[in-house]
Amino acid sequence: MADFNGENYENWKPSDFPEGYVCPEAGTSVNCHTGGWRSERPVWDKEQCSNCMLCWVYCPDSSIMVKDGEMTGIDYEHCKGCGVCVTECKFGALELISEAQAIAEEGE
Ligand code: SF4
Ligand code: SF4
Repeated sequence: MADFNGENYENWKPSDFPEGYVCPEAGTSVNCHTGGWRSERPVWDKEQCSNCMLCWVYCPDSSIMVKDGEMTGIDYEHCKGCGVCVTECKFGALELISEAQAIAEEGE
């Protein structure tokens, strides 16, 4: 990475980051929109959710959004689609679908 130049990284798109991603400085991971890496997407069913917070505990990307002790959604800007939350949810409130399917359904 001898020629790595992190100048103006605040304005980088996901495609601008070098392969393997380099953190230019501490506390900057929020600026890396890792959601662009996702090939699968967890979809949340609010009606099935018990707010047990297991998904929040296990999500490696802090992408489960919570307010006042209740889940409010998924941060798709940073969720990488690893599926850990889907595996950990014991209430059938999370389903993993392909990103292509999700995008197609959004367009309908
Ligand atoms: S798929 Fe992975 S990164 Fe995305 S919300 Fe679930 S646990 Fe977090
Ligand atoms: S693990 Fe499932 S039931 Fe628990 S907060 Fe997450 S989505 Fe809701």
